[in-house]
Amino acid sequence: MPISRDDVIAWLSVYGQLLEDHREYLTQLDSSIGDADHGVNMDRGFKAVLGKLPTVADKDIGTILKSVGMTLVQTVGGASGPLYGTFFLQAGAATANKMELSLAEWASAVEGAINGLMARGKANIGDKTMVDALVPALHALKQAIADGIDEHEALRQSASAAEQGMKNTIPLVAKKGRASYLAERSAGHQDPGATSSYLMFKAMVDAWTK
Ligand code: ADP
Ligand code: MG
Repeated sequence: MPISRDDVIAWLSVYGQLLEDHREYLTQLDSSIGDADHGVNMDRGFKAVLGKLPTVADKDIGTILKSVGMTLVQTVGGASGPLYGTFFLQAGAATANKMELSLAEWASAVEGAINGLMARGKANIGDKTMVDALVPALHALKQAIADGIDEHEALRQSASAAEQGMKNTIPLVAKKGRASYLAERSAGHQDPGATSSYLMFKAMVDAWTK
């Protein structure tokens, strides 16, 4: 299953649509343990990303992903803008000049992206952040590839792992970001960033396995 530039564009479009559809939900999650802007932030950011896509749609995958990262850094404030911005900038660095990727190359770009995000945010697994969805999704994807599983199924397993990681944030006490100001009171609520990260992997399934 080669992943073409058009596949990457389709993924970004589907993710943008999912963020629009889940805008109120993400904001509602953020109202419990943050400042009620995560859905608004992500929807605004991806509207800007999709608005800029036509200007880079004839470029390589790395250029497209870097443009996504720059747009997010410029248009999304708070914690999530620089973090998702870093994710896409690093994914772009790993895919420079590529017009097509194997699923294994895609997984290694995602790995570089997550490492960049973690270096920037200093959050580890269990800190009740987007990392809790991203890291399990990556591990599941790499494992499925190593096991030689059907590639569509590999993407589905990766999204399921992200969903489980998202749900696992519910009982956790936040150690990073705004939610950490609540300390013990952050427990019992699902992390908004882990939820938007799950949607990013769900968008791969929706865009690439249909
Ligand atoms: P803000 O908290 O500045 O209002 P958002 O509401 O858009 O920004 O995003 C909040 C999300 O950002 C949290 O739910 C969490 O998943 C994520 N987050 C916050 N700080 C970090 C961090 N240091 N590392 C990783 N993710 C983080
Ligand atoms: Mg917020």
